[in-house]
Parts: sequence; structure tokens; C-alpha cells
Amino acid sequence: MKRFKEKLWLSSPTMHGEELAYIEQAIRANWVSTVGENINELERMIAGYVGVEHAVALSSGTAALHLCMKLAGERLNPGAKPGKALEGMRVFCSDMTFDASVNPVVYEGGEPAFIDTEADTWNMDPAALEKAFGMYPDVKLVVLVHLYGVPAKMDEIVSICRAHGALIVEDAAEALGAEYRGDIVSGRCGSFGDFIAVSFNGNKIVTGSSGGMFLTNGRSDADKVRKWSTQSREDAPWYQHEELGYNYRMSNIIAGLARGNMLHVDEHIAQKKAIYERYKEGFGDLPVVMNPFEEMSSPNYWLSCMLIDESAMCRQERGEKRALYISEPGKSCPTEILETLAACNAEGRPIWKPMHMQPIYRMDPFVTRQGNGRARSNAYIDEGIITDVGADIFRRGLCLPSDNKMTPEQQDRVIEIVRECFA
Ligand SMILES: *Cc1c(COP(=O)(O)O)cnc(C)c1O
Repeated sequence: MKRFKEKLWLSSPTMHGEELAYIEQAIRANWVSTVGENINELERMIAGYVGVEHAVALSSGTAALHLCMKLAGERLNPGAKPGKALEGMRVFCSDMTFDASVNPVVYEGGEPAFIDTEADTWNMDPAALEKAFGMYPDVKLVVLVHLYGVPAKMDEIVSICRAHGALIVEDAAEALGAEYRGDIVSGRCGSFGDFIAVSFNGNKIVTGSSGGMFLTNGRSDADKVRKWSTQSREDAPWYQHEELGYNYRMSNIIAGLARGNMLHVDEHIAQKKAIYERYKEGFGDLPVVMNPFEEMSSPNYWLSCMLIDESAMCRQERGEKRALYISEPGKSCPTEILETLAACNAEGRPIWKPMHMQPIYRMDPFVTRQGNGRARSNAYIDEGIITDVGADIFRRGLCLPSDNKMTPEQQDRVIEIVRECFA
């Protein structure tokens, strides 16, 4: 099979020129530190673009999520010790996600309970969330992700959280620029939670090479995050400390990169959207669907993903670290497609393996719309009913090369490779 001469990436950084100009400016002015104009401007740009009052630039999306959890803990459990802000608390978490959205719950002593995924947007299932509040009525914190840049069912989730008096930490790391227009809430992803995180990690739609940002509408919350992220210095002539601090602030060099890249956010989204639509068209007659979204939403199309129809799945067995499959005419599976793409020098990726299937989180509760989930990888079909939507999407889905520098010719070649897997 013909290989790509240059590797086709899943989603690599796309530089334009302004990035270097802002970095150079910072170096010439000697603002090579965690203060400077690039940081201030990036915070202003992101707050304005997303539609929130306050933004604090941090070293990563994970750092932003950690401080979200600390704030939530402080609100729910005043006086708790550092590292224990969520101690003794159950926290409802999106199940199908990158583990960076859940780990910060544990950094603060919280106990995650995973909420199953729905099939319409691949995000937290409101019916399962409602079920979970029935089982754990004391829960006051929900950590919600917009997977692959597709907005979650925010109207339902916000209503349920309000009815139960629960705070929302919104992990918008993958969803910068995605929009949701509901009856209850409306706006860009990253504007719905009480405490919000975005990421500028190297493969996100806007990058600083690394970095993240905390967003909120609460001024005092933003002030706290700003203070905590700079080692909790008090306003005094010397280094005065009254509480535990962190070195989580963003560098002005990273901020220059992200600031330059952010000028192109809408262009990146348009490119990603064109890629998604080309795949959709190219797979029109294959037994697959693209990752779905609701009509009231505009995703940012960060990653294009596909899901293979059950009837077109060949045999695939996944252990903890290895996968096997048996090729069959007219059928395929994620393992076959990913291996074939890799052999052609193109990078795809499995769907995020659900948290309830991960060895580290397997003993934590998992709630589906039927009730108690069973964290066993083969328990997703019960008498013909899918009882674990996340496990099912993980089994049948995959992320396709979604780099915005991919040419239509290269993409057509990817489509051809996938088609050959089904031949
Ligand atoms: C990338 C990502 C993060 C973490 O962001 P970093 O900046 O890499 O720390 C968190 N949650 C999700 C869903 C992500 O995709």
C-alpha cells in the first residue's frame, strides 16, 4: 500500500507568523517571565472570545482544572486542608474523556463517580446523571467535558445540576470556539460552568505549545486563582505567605505563541469543519457514521471521528495493552483501520478509553441510565440493549487524521485507505 512520504498527524500545531512576532517582542523587551503583555492580551482575548468576565493564564489545562477543584472544594467544604478540598466528597465526572479531566478531582481528595455517555454527542448522558443524583443525592459537584469539540447537552445538564444545587466544573480543553444555542443556556463552550478550564497543549485547536487558562464570571474566584498560581504571595514588601501556593502561572513566551495562534481560531475551525465534511461525504456509502452533534450546536470539529456499525464490525479483542482482530470481507474494526493507517504513515487514535474501564478508576462507581453500571469491558450489551454507551463507542469508534494542514488530496488518500479496510 502506498505510504505518505511525510507523516500525516492526528492534529499538529499550525503556526502562522504572528506567534514568532509576539515571542520576539517579548524577548526584545526582556519580558521573559511569567508577567508581560502577551499574558495580559491572551487573557483579554480568550475572555472576550468565550464570553466570560475573567481569565487567568496558567501552565496547563490540568493546572486550571486543579484550581477549579480547589475552588469548588473551598465553596462546598470551607476550611478544608490543601490537597483535601474535596475530601469525603463524591464528584460526578464525564466517563469518556482524557484522564486529565478526572485526576485533579483526586489531587484534592475527591472520589469520582463516572457518568455514562449518550450516543447523540458522545458526552455525559443527562439521563444517567439524573439517575446518579437519585443514587447519590448529596453530590454537589459535576465535572463535564465537551468531547472532541462537540458541545454536551447543556440545557439538560444545567437544569439537573441547578435542581440539585451542584456546581459545574467545565472542561472545555477540546472545545474552544464550539457553540451551543439552547433554551436554558446559550453561548460558547467555556462559558457555562462555575469554574472552567481550557488548554493550549500542542495538539489543541489553538496552541501555545503548552499552557491553559482558568475562566470564570466570579471576580474573587479569579483573584484566588491568580494568587494560588503564583505561590500564594501576599501583598507585602517581602515574600509573605498565608496559604499553600503553586507555580502554575503561564510564561510570557508561551502566551506570545498562544496569542499569535489565537488570531487564527476561526480559520482553524473552518479548516477542521471542511475536513469533517469531506470525511462524511467520502464515507457516505460505508457502514459508518461520523461523531454526531446536535442541531443547536456548532462544534469546533477538533477531531473527526467515526463509528463503525455493529453489523460491519469484524472480530476485535482488546486486552489491557494489546489488540487483535480477524479481518473479514465487508467488515472492519478500529484496530484494523488504525494499524493500516499507521502502516501508511498516518496517525489516527482510538477513542478515549472510558475512565470506568481504566485500571486506575475501575473500582469507582459507574452510573448508566439503567442505574449501576458494571465496569467490565464486555458488559455493554444486555439482551440487545446497550448498557454501557462509552464502552460501545470505544469498541467501535476511532479518531481519524484531523490535521488542519492536511490537503484534500491527502485526505482522499486516507478515505481510500479506510475504504480498503472494508473491502
Ligand atoms: C488536553 C485535555 C486536558 C488537559 O490539558 P493540558 O493542557 O494538556 O493539561 C484536559 N481535559 C481534556 C478533555 C483534554 O483533552
